[in-house]
Amino acid sequence: MNPITKAIRIQTDRTNEMEHSTPMFLTSSFCFDDAEDMRAAFADESNDNIYSRFSNPGVQEFTDKMVALEGAEAGYATATGMAAVFASFMALLKKGDHLIACSSVFGSTVTVLNKYLPNYGIEVSYVSANDPDSWEAAIKPNTKMIYLETPTNPGLDIIDLAAVSKLVKKHNILLNVDNCFATPVNQRPIDFGADLVIHSATKWIDGQGRVLGGVVLGKKELIHQIYLFCRSTGPALSPFNAWVLSKSLETLDVRMERHASNALHIAKALEGHAKISWLKYPFLPSHPQHAIAAKQMKNGGGLISFNLSGGLESGRAFLNNLKMLSLTANLGDTRSIASHPASTTHAKLTEAERAAVNITPGLIRISVGLEHVDDILGDILQALA
Ligand SMILES: *Cc1c(COP(=O)(O)O)cnc(C)c1O
Repeated sequence: MNPITKAIRIQTDRTNEMEHSTPMFLTSSFCFDDAEDMRAAFADESNDNIYSRFSNPGVQEFTDKMVALEGAEAGYATATGMAAVFASFMALLKKGDHLIACSSVFGSTVTVLNKYLPNYGIEVSYVSANDPDSWEAAIKPNTKMIYLETPTNPGLDIIDLAAVSKLVKKHNILLNVDNCFATPVNQRPIDFGADLVIHSATKWIDGQGRVLGGVVLGKKELIHQIYLFCRSTGPALSPFNAWVLSKSLETLDVRMERHASNALHIAKALEGHAKISWLKYPFLPSHPQHAIAAKQMKNGGGLISFNLSGGLESGRAFLNNLKMLSLTANLGDTRSIASHPASTTHAKLTEAERAAVNITPGLIRISVGLEHVDDILGDILQALA
């Protein structure tokens, strides 16, 4: 079966009622028939569920669908995207190891890398998404992992997954990719050689702004290490959120197609607007890494970024002038969202630090929703005017 069919049809378990849709398994623990059954489960001799911190049928269903969509061997679902990111570092890295991260990664990931990993003797250094030729020089004898996002946030730079995979294979390093912005129906990093893929399911996977969730996917032996770490430290996905997310996956492919076609239409219409100095969308020929995007992505995704020539004050005025688009920190929702990183999410950085990750004073990021495209574009145009 095609992975898109699997995302609709996989059903890990049913109750005796044989319900057609996914049931919910709101239980913290599971019963055994007898002492022998229970002994076998605790001895890892059976796949029986024991306790929902370890496993739960509804969580497993969501995980199995994500495994199919990403073309992975195994996975573990977590309470949030950050729990997935953190678990992938803590389970696989140890004191004395070195991690290389792309400089434009999610803000909380930067906090984990800068503030917490050094406390455990894990060394971190950064490379630039815009300078792939510099990556090999950053590799040291103790480098264990390269961590990146593509497209990057909020600059929408594209990193060549096949090229980085070649580099990690040559140096025997793990490649860990946060695939949150693209989703697996648009880009499958494992097909290009990634060892691990991470998602914040909070974004496009849910796609309706309802729940938090995360997942780590990849090779069996790596995921087993992550599972053992999580089962003891407790970032399990709740069965209710797993139910929401499993149902969400049934529509992921159609949703992402419309998000992307809306975004492409809007990007084309805004490109060259008098108040916009540059606009980036991966599937516009003007995007600096358009050729790489076309090679590794099925469509350009649902995010657009552009720079207002008027700088910081124009950015704030643009947000204030919007009538329909939401002003919120999230992305990947049926409702279109506008954000101005320089005055909000990245306001604590210095101007130089923002410039280093391509956040200009007038940068606006739009998460294109599923409203009628004329209404989304119309609101953006009247706010620009
Ligand atoms: C939101 C986000 C995360 C963190 O996910 P949470 O579910 O909020 O913990 C990680 N990576 C990227 C790219 C994100 O956008």
